[in-house]
Amino acid sequence: TQRSSEELIRAENTALAHNYHPLPVVVARAEGVWVEDVEGRRYLDMLAGYSALNFGHRHPGLVAAAHRQLDEVTLTSRAFHNDRLAGFAEGLAELTGLEMTLPMNTGAEAVESAVKVARKWAYEVKGVAPDRATIIVADGNFHGRTTTIVSFSTDETARGGFGPFTPGFRIVPYNDLAALENAIDETTAAVLIEPIQGEAGVLIPDDGYLAGVRELTRRAGCLFIADEIQSGLGRTGTTLAVDHESVVPDMLLLGKALGGGIVPVSAVVARRDVLGVLRPGEHGSTFGGNPLAAAVGSAVVDLLATGEFQRRAAELGEVLRDGLTGLVGKGVVGFRSRGLWAGVDVDPAIGSGREISERLMAEGILVKDTHGSTIRIAPPLTITREELGSALASLEKVLG
Ligand code: PLP
Repeated sequence: TQRSSEELIRAENTALAHNYHPLPVVVARAEGVWVEDVEGRRYLDMLAGYSALNFGHRHPGLVAAAHRQLDEVTLTSRAFHNDRLAGFAEGLAELTGLEMTLPMNTGAEAVESAVKVARKWAYEVKGVAPDRATIIVADGNFHGRTTTIVSFSTDETARGGFGPFTPGFRIVPYNDLAALENAIDETTAAVLIEPIQGEAGVLIPDDGYLAGVRELTRRAGCLFIADEIQSGLGRTGTTLAVDHESVVPDMLLLGKALGGGIVPVSAVVARRDVLGVLRPGEHGSTFGGNPLAAAVGSAVVDLLATGEFQRRAAELGEVLRDGLTGLVGKGVVGFRSRGLWAGVDVDPAIGSGREISERLMAEGILVKDTHGSTIRIAPPLTITREELGSALASLEKVLG
């Protein structure tokens, strides 16, 4: 017999580590932009798995690709070749303009992989002295949860109690080209940044910042690594967030939506002279590049190749921006948005981000807070204008 939402939450609290504080909704089914809980209550999903569900829940084309592959072969390990992987990598090359792919599973693994590749590149290509390579990152970054990645986090909750930390990182203020220029020296292997900082509250750098990072790294002869795990794959109205400044990084990190919300798929995509530093035995993953992941990932690339999702994100992004602009002064103190992605700062007098999220949940709208009184809005890119309008109306209601 099916346990109630309340019983399941109680059971989770007993049986699972408390490393999350979920909203009290227990999802049992989902389709498109809608999820349904155990009791049959329906909610509009305005978070979309932190952008892992850019194409909505159970996109028919992606589910069909997964089903087809389940009937053929799901896992080979990289001990053998599989007939899906080449096409996936070729598709990514076509989509991004970069030549080679290193397939992994989660976002954090893609970041870890990029750190390793950048260091090796620094020693073998740039000629940095052994074990002296540094990687420059930005204040307020979020790149994942592994020990090396939290080593260069500036969030005490993410770091505290998890030392000792991995050396070799320098932290500069985000959106500050002068500080970046000062921090780069002959040991710099790479600059690793999010083109838009998602977890930090959808912080969008000034126009020219990404082009500036590109120019500084080119001049210094170090790599520009763009972590587009949350910002990429249609979310901001273009395939990549760096496309807004027509910038091509040396290494591109993709994850989340790359697996279509079905399987974990991430990738480091880079030029041949960068990823070419890896040789057999130096890096890998049992599941990375498995045929099921490659089949779904290829289907995701095919969806993006149509341009339809980028277009929707751009067009509906205007609706989102207009709606939020209308709420400024009416409970919203400020917001940042690009495409279908927004960080909304709510007047703390009205409620914390958590409280606002809970009130929206009671209205049938799912969002999640990040830091204090900021909520993050990132619906599936398949949302309709009407659905988006109704979510904005609910936000207005709970703020009123
Ligand atoms: N990088 C960025 C920019 C992210 O937003 C995230 C997840 O939120 C990650 C990396 C880590 O991805 P994962 O949770 O799949 O390890």
